[in-house]
Amino acid sequence: MELPFDIGPQYEGERIRKEDMYVELGGPKVKAKAELAKLRKTDEIEDGRVEVKGPDIGEMKEGGSYPFGIFVEVTGEKLEEDMEGVVERRIHEYCNFIEGFMHLNQRYDIWCRLSKGAHAKGFNLKYMGQALIKLFKSELPIIEKMQVTFITDEKEIEGFVDNAKKTYEDRDARARALSEEEVDEFYACLMCQSFAPTHVCIITPEKMSLCGSISWLEGRAATRADPEGTNFPIQKGELLDAIKGEYAGVNEVVSEKSDGETERCYLHSMFGYPHTSCGCFESLAFYIPEVDGIGVVHREYSEDTPIGIPFSRLAAQTGGGRQEEGILGMAIEYMRSRKFLQADGGWERIVWLPKDAKKRIEDAIPEGLHERIATEDDATDIDSLKAFLQKKAHPVVQRWEFEVTEELKNKLIAYIEQQDGEIYPEEAAKELGLSEDQLTKVIDRLREDGILE
Ligand code: ZN
Repeated sequence: MELPFDIGPQYEGERIRKEDMYVELGGPKVKAKAELAKLRKTDEIEDGRVEVKGPDIGEMKEGGSYPFGIFVEVTGEKLEEDMEGVVERRIHEYCNFIEGFMHLNQRYDIWCRLSKGAHAKGFNLKYMGQALIKLFKSELPIIEKMQVTFITDEKEIEGFVDNAKKTYEDRDARARALSEEEVDEFYACLMCQSFAPTHVCIITPEKMSLCGSISWLEGRAATRADPEGTNFPIQKGELLDAIKGEYAGVNEVVSEKSDGETERCYLHSMFGYPHTSCGCFESLAFYIPEVDGIGVVHREYSEDTPIGIPFSRLAAQTGGGRQEEGILGMAIEYMRSRKFLQADGGWERIVWLPKDAKKRIEDAIPEGLHERIATEDDATDIDSLKAFLQKKAHPVVQRWEFEVTEELKNKLIAYIEQQDGEIYPEEAAKELGLSEDQLTKVIDRLREDGILE
């Protein structure tokens, strides 16, 4: 079949702005959208079949937004169940190989645009399905047969999205059983380097890819299926810091694959040397200095956070592969991790979360904390947040009461002298019985006093 458009990796970075857009599929204006990959038995697949349930592009109005489902079914003798997530994540990559088509995000949150130019050339979803089948089969030869269904029908999409969400949940639950300690290998993902060239996503059993679509199991399956692809194994190497989650092997790979831009990476802290953020992360954590706590906001929440900035602006500050202290892109699933920001106090440090996100991970919030974490109903600015936390006796309130006494100052001076003027914050904090941020407060005070430079 002759396609009326070109395909190839050269189109990957292509952005379609509103003025150049013919239609939008999925995205923030429509509620129901999702993509899903399923592994099937060989006789269940009609190789090369493309079906469109609902209007195709030709029946859509210019400038409109439509519900969108992409359903990929594959079979292959060597395919294992953990490959479903991997195949599904590749939908993003291969859709972007299509000239005039843009695909953002993943899972239940896809956002696609078709350009006016592509429409003029005769683009439709039937062709697009053919292009995807061609790309998948050439890039992932272990796929033997494949069929694609697009869903644009208002009614059909509802059931499809519900089913997709159930599948994601089952997959994530399978991955939760493992820990970082019991494996020797982690996995890296470089898929987002097309727009965030220094970003290296580290996937461990207790830290999913930031986009929330590749678990450790899926990372492993991906490297087996496509050793030349964007995922590869990392020997975790020596454990340098068990609390922060720093591994020699991870540092080495991050440094190499970011061209020396990032030299160290803490897997479980947003301070010091945090994991870099790409651009497709599901949510992000942001430090709120006024309350010494951490807020979390997810992509779908478009209002301002209590610091007066919405998700989009926070995302712009940290995205693109930068290592940004105090703002960290992450998967929503990461909030279920036993190691969730453990170096920063974990859940005890979380002070604000949109109620929709809070509901989604309700069962992961430790007992006694649920009522103490504010949502947009409780706090919309710093003052109301402070008042709420105080009223609920949130654990961060204890941090506010920390006082830099003369005794503490003297203790620190003595310690610095004993160490010949050179101290390591982590060791010093331990030695003095302080947390690292308490230590920072004492150091700051000594600076103000002119005792330290
Ligand atoms: Zn990403």
